[in-house]
Amino acid sequence: MYGSCLCSKVKYQLTPPFKLFQYCHCSRCQKVTGSAHAANIYIKAEQLEWLQGADQIGRFEYPDAKYYATQFCKNCGSNLPWQVKGGDTVVVPAGTLDDATSELKPKQSIHWRSRAPWYEETSSLCKFDDTPPRQPQ
Ligand SMILES: [Zn+2]
Ligand SMILES: [Zn+2]
Repeated sequence: MYGSCLCSKVKYQLTPPFKLFQYCHCSRCQKVTGSAHAANIYIKAEQLEWLQGADQIGRFEYPDAKYYATQFCKNCGSNLPWQVKGGDTVVVPAGTLDDATSELKPKQSIHWRSRAPWYEETSSLCKFDDTPPRQPQ
């Protein structure tokens, strides 16, 4: 699967299978996306390949967070896949995919307790107030 930012300077390729696809309603994801929640796909670092524009990628590591960081295009500001601090997992903002299909569906909503007060319910996904318990893969 292929993805890119809004200005198309940065392009990447993902190799399935994906570990998990979920919506995150935490306050950090609200800030980073400017929206009600992030739509995040989780993969291993080796499943991501930058095809172009790697020099255009900015990174911000949230100081108080164990894993949280974010990456973005320095030219257009779009969110981009980011590797967690100190780990092998890469979080891919699903909205940056160029060839997603309806077969790719989120499984659940997490950090539901932190959801924006103005959020209007639109789905019947399973919800976890914080981070869900680890699940066998
Ligand atoms: Zn861009
Ligand atoms: Zn989040």
